[in-house]
Order: sequence, then C-alpha cells, then structure tokens
Amino acid sequence: MDLASYADLVIELVNTQDPAEDSLRDLDALHELLKIRPHLSGRITRRDLDAMRELRAELRAIFVSATEGDEEAAIDRLNSLLIQHPVHPQMSGHDGQRWHLHLTEGGSVPDRYAAGAAMGLAVKISDQGIDRLGICRAASCRNIFFDTTADGSRRYCSDRCAGRATEAAYAARLANTDQRDGGQ
Ligand SMILES: [Zn+2]
Repeated sequence: MDLASYADLVIELVNTQDPAEDSLRDLDALHELLKIRPHLSGRITRRDLDAMRELRAELRAIFVSATEGDEEAAIDRLNSLLIQHPVHPQMSGHDGQRWHLHLTEGGSVPDRYAAGAAMGLAVKISDQGIDRLGICRAASCRNIFFDTTADGSRRYCSDRCAGRATEAAYAARLANTDQRDGGQ
C-alpha cells in the first residue's frame, strides 16, 4: 500500500456515515469496507464493528475541529490517536510489487485500521496543511474530503453535491425574487 494512500482510510471510513443512512451498521458492511484493503482484513467481530464506529467518530471530530478553525484541538485529537494506535512499520514486497512500506502488520483489524488512518492523516497534514481538511457544505451531506485545489477553494465532497447546492441557491434566489415582486 502506497504510504500517501493511508489517508484514504480516513475518508473511506468517515464517509460511511451519511445523514440519511449509516452504511456501517453491521459486519457485512464492515467486510465490504475492508474488501479493497487485503492488508487490513482478518477475523472481525461485533466488538470490532463498535471499535470502528468509535474510530469513525474520533476521525470526524478532527475534521470538525479543523474546519471550525480550532487547529490545536484537531491536532490534540490526532495526537491521541497516534499514541493509542502506534504503527508497526514493515517493508513488504508481495504480489510482484516493488518493496514498499506497510505501517501496520499486527493487532486487531480496528487497531491496524486506526494506526494506518492516523498516520496517513498526520502525513497528509504535514505535507499539505491542516486547512486542506474539509467537510461538505451541501445541506444534506456530511462527507469529509481533502482539498487538493490550488487555491484551497473546495466546498463540496463531490460534483453531485456541488450541483445540488447550485440548484438550491438558484431556487432560493428565484423564491426571493418572487417574494419581492409579489410584495410590490
Ligand atoms: Zn457532499
């Protein structure tokens, strides 16, 4: 696994929590989340699911603090995750890939996931800045993202949410105009 892509673990886990539907509600859903990460697979139990949901809340809290401008709180939260879930780096060269670094080889699935996610996020923030952490501004969305635009102008998690927000703003403007016209 590419070291930079460990930060994707954060996004993938936190964004299972849609306001309309929590897609991490049972063990099948957790298997589904881990499927694309063979290194993070293993036997999982109900307790692991609970641990993953707790981790999800902790990771989201980092984004909430960061986007509210409380960088110290965000970093404090991240530091406690790094302490709770230390990495166990190992060089690996499986499946014909070149030698590369794995951050987490031992421990329970949630522990390994947490160690990888926390380190990935730490690397991301160190490289690109904490102001790159974002939460979607669309009304019905809480997805998180890393802003990779040159000027740090990203507001939405996806084109879909950006499109919906534009439509909503347009509808609001129309309603406003109607009201004004009606009042005269
Ligand atoms: Zn969104």
